[in-house]
Amino acid sequence: MSAAAAPTTQRTIHRIIRQSGHHWVGDGFRVKGLLSYDDRELARLTSPFLLLDYNAPYEFGPTDQPRGVGAHPHRGFETVTFAFDGAIAHHDSTGGGGVIRAGDVQWMTAGRGILHKEYHDAEWAQQGGTFHMAQLWVNLPAAAKMTAPGYQPLTAEQIGSVELPCGAGTVRVVAGEFDGHRGPARTQTPINLWDVRLHPGASMTSAFAPSDSVAVLVIAGTATINGQDAVDGELVVFERDGGPITIATDAGTRFLVLDGEPIDEPIVGYGPFVMNTPAEIRQAFADFERGDFGRLD
Ligand code: MN
Repeated sequence: MSAAAAPTTQRTIHRIIRQSGHHWVGDGFRVKGLLSYDDRELARLTSPFLLLDYNAPYEFGPTDQPRGVGAHPHRGFETVTFAFDGAIAHHDSTGGGGVIRAGDVQWMTAGRGILHKEYHDAEWAQQGGTFHMAQLWVNLPAAAKMTAPGYQPLTAEQIGSVELPCGAGTVRVVAGEFDGHRGPARTQTPINLWDVRLHPGASMTSAFAPSDSVAVLVIAGTATINGQDAVDGELVVFERDGGPITIATDAGTRFLVLDGEPIDEPIVGYGPFVMNTPAEIRQAFADFERGDFGRLD
C-alpha cells in the first residue's frame, strides 16, 4: 500500500473473467466459479486467493427446509464468506458458528482441519427473498497450514464505512487498511479486502504494493476499470506489475477489491483440502478418515 514506491503507469489487466455458466453448491448456493487454482497462470497472479465463487442475486421461495450444504471438511486454507443479501448460517466442529446478514462477513480458518456446514438461515428461509453472496478461499503459507482452526464473525458494524472524498462513495474495509482505516479481520499474510460503492459519475484511484496480486469483482452496476468495462459478476485480474488502478462509473457501481501479498509456494489441492505436496493431501484424507477433524452433526 505504498503509493510512493509504485510505478505511475497503470497496472495491466491480465484478463476479465466473464463466466456465464453456474453450478450449485449443495442446494443453497447458485454460483459462478470465477477463480480456481486449477488454472496455474491465474493461481500465480491471484495468490494468496485460491478460489472465488459468486452467487449473483437470485430469488429463493419460502421453505421450512433451509437450503445449503451439509457437514464437510477443509484443511490448509481459509474460507471468507460475504453476505450481500439474505442470511447465511454457519456451524463448525470447533463450536464456531453464527448467522451473517447483509454487510456481514465470516472468516473461517480451516488450518489443520475443520468440519463445517453452510446453510440459509432458517428464519430467513421461511420468508425467502433475494440471495446474493460470495465465497473466497484464501491460502495459508506452508508454515501456517496446520495452525489451529478458528472462526471470526465480522459484522457490518465492526467493518464500518469510510467516506470517500467529494462524496464519491464509501469503502468498507474488511481486512487490511484503506487510507489509514483498518478492517477487523485478522489475516495470516498481508491482505486488503475492500467493499466499495461508487456513486454515479464518481471515480477512485488506488495504488498497491507493486508485486501484489490484485483483482476486482464487480457485484453491482457497471464500472470502467483502467479503461475496460466490467459488469456485475465479472472479475478483473491484473498482472503483478505495480501501478495504480482507476475505477470509474457512469451509473454507479459496487465492487470488491482483493489485494494480497503472494504466497509463492507449491499448491496441491484435492476437493476440500489445499496443501503443498501430494503426501500432505494423502495425510489429510487419512486424518479425516480417522476422525481428527472433530465431530459435527
Ligand atoms: Mn465449506
